[in-house]
Amino acid sequence: MTYLVNRLSRLRANETFRQMVRENRLEAGDLIQPLFVHHGDQVKNEIDSMPGQFQYSIDNLIEVTQRLYDAGLRAVLLFGIPAGKDEAGSDTWDDEHGIIQQALRALKKAVPKMILITDVCFCEYTTHGHCGVLVERNGQKVLDHDATLDNLALQAASHARSGADMLAPSGMIDGAVGIIRETLDGLGYQHLPIMSYSAKYASSFYGPFRDAAQGAPQFGDRRSHQMDCANSNEALREVEIDIQEGADIVMVKPALSFMDVICRIKELFNIPCAAYNVSGEYAMVKAASERGWLDEKQCVMEILTSFKRAGADLIITYHAGDAVNWLP
Ligand SMILES: [Zn+2]
Repeated sequence: MTYLVNRLSRLRANETFRQMVRENRLEAGDLIQPLFVHHGDQVKNEIDSMPGQFQYSIDNLIEVTQRLYDAGLRAVLLFGIPAGKDEAGSDTWDDEHGIIQQALRALKKAVPKMILITDVCFCEYTTHGHCGVLVERNGQKVLDHDATLDNLALQAASHARSGADMLAPSGMIDGAVGIIRETLDGLGYQHLPIMSYSAKYASSFYGPFRDAAQGAPQFGDRRSHQMDCANSNEALREVEIDIQEGADIVMVKPALSFMDVICRIKELFNIPCAAYNVSGEYAMVKAASERGWLDEKQCVMEILTSFKRAGADLIITYHAGDAVNWLP
């Protein structure tokens, strides 16, 4: 007979033991639901590649946000689909008519305690679908980071004036966090935190999001400014620079294929880290569960808890609205 002093299975024998030694727990406060705001009235367009996710006009958005708040969620991340696009994406700094600005004012009034985080970028607002101002270089149109910074400042200021609780620059534009911090501070919004998409990878898992936000690039791709999926040291440099520029929360996007990056960030930096569980990751689970190949609830809870185990403090996920009702 083998004599075993250590039997780890002892504490797995029943649910009470398992609960007593559970190392990570998912809570409603960890979850952030992304929402797509569409111009118009009575709009509720389901996104084909993201069953259960919709583009909402502001009237419907209010209803959904209230429902999410009542279920226990405390933060949403807003993406806008404007009535019109132009070369510069000027809807993003239009105080009066900007889609995000209108949504902020309406939501602040209707659901004042919900934390409203705004995506700060240009790809949904420009006719060319790129994340900023383009410049011609060697016969090719490329993103001009420095020129984009001026417009980022305009957008950030307008979001702040309209009631945003937190700003989330997502374009991987060099210097974005710094210019936004400087702008906010200069206008008296020193208290508004910045959640930076610090390590945003050029990923194939964004496909469904582009249907949802209607911001696919009309030519080329985003590999010239988003990160190469083969790199993680570079992600640490991005995070370090964002912290120096004043980021309050850093983010890794996507999340499932980049959990090692979340883990390394948390080991090295003492800063809250968010994981963005992206549209393609959502679509995979949805598609397989619809076919009966996966148990949706079990898989979602396993995935979200794993982000916490990896070190994520916050999880941005399209599953948030469901997961909040599945918490123990
Ligand atoms: Zn963008």
